[in-house]
Amino acid sequence: MTRIVYLNGEWLPENEARISVFDRGFLMADGVYEVTCVLDGKLVEYAGHAARLHRSARELGMVLPLNEEELLAVHREIVARNGLDQGMIYLQLTRGVADRDFAYPAEGTPPTLVLFTQAKNVLQNQVAEKGIAVALLPDLRWGRRDIKTIQLLYPSMAKMEAMSRGADDAWLVEDGFVTEGSAANAHIVTADGVLVTRDLSHALLSGITRGSVLELAAQNGIRVEERAFTPAEALSAREAFITSATNFVVPVIRIDETAIGDGTPGALTRDLRRIYIETRRSAAI
Ligand code: PMP
Repeated sequence: MTRIVYLNGEWLPENEARISVFDRGFLMADGVYEVTCVLDGKLVEYAGHAARLHRSARELGMVLPLNEEELLAVHREIVARNGLDQGMIYLQLTRGVADRDFAYPAEGTPPTLVLFTQAKNVLQNQVAEKGIAVALLPDLRWGRRDIKTIQLLYPSMAKMEAMSRGADDAWLVEDGFVTEGSAANAHIVTADGVLVTRDLSHALLSGITRGSVLELAAQNGIRVEERAFTPAEALSAREAFITSATNFVVPVIRIDETAIGDGTPGALTRDLRRIYIETRRSAAI
């Protein structure tokens, strides 16, 4: 099926959408993005994703060409135009088209805004039932991972390296501590049942799912510690899991060669996945 994509105010069949070779997203990875999950044709955690998009843009001095109302309307319309029931909306904002130059183009250069949909069965997700294996790899990304930029080459390399080692994905390590996954936040549950997750800083992305899961954990009487944890702590954890918009909560059952807990998805992880889906599905707009 040909999707209908959004490009700078126009709705186009996917094979007719064209972007300039001078786009700064293409030449310099000068852009930011968001991925919003769609469930039952509705937007999951939309407010969080919209707020983070504005923050990412602001940190890079970019301006969104749509106001709040228009942005929400475009998200809703792309779901409707593509008849999407389950999957995601990808949004990308770049600094627009200009002669190649390290200096930003003049103020007022129109940004490029693209949205497209991608179907995915997010509820019946095999990896969520079985869990995933992760490989520990050095975190070689830039120093502002709190901004959701489109420079995804290293995360992509890390995923490939993890897969070549027989894992599903990578957990990245810097200065002796786990930062996050290649495209997800990383969490562990200690032997005493404490949920430990890295505190927010420039070192990692403030995941929307992460924030919700921490809130839900606290509401359900789970002790939460926001602090950095070491690979050794992760290897001896009772449970481990990742969070991201279209994976929700996915168990990690092996880190490098070490089985986590008994090597099957942990009970707390499964509970958090269920509670997350229940609450965020019913709150979707
Ligand atoms: N960290 C990184 C590096 C990511 O790419 C993502 C997903 N885009 C996340 C964390 C999870 O964020 P969210 O829960 O908002 O999808």
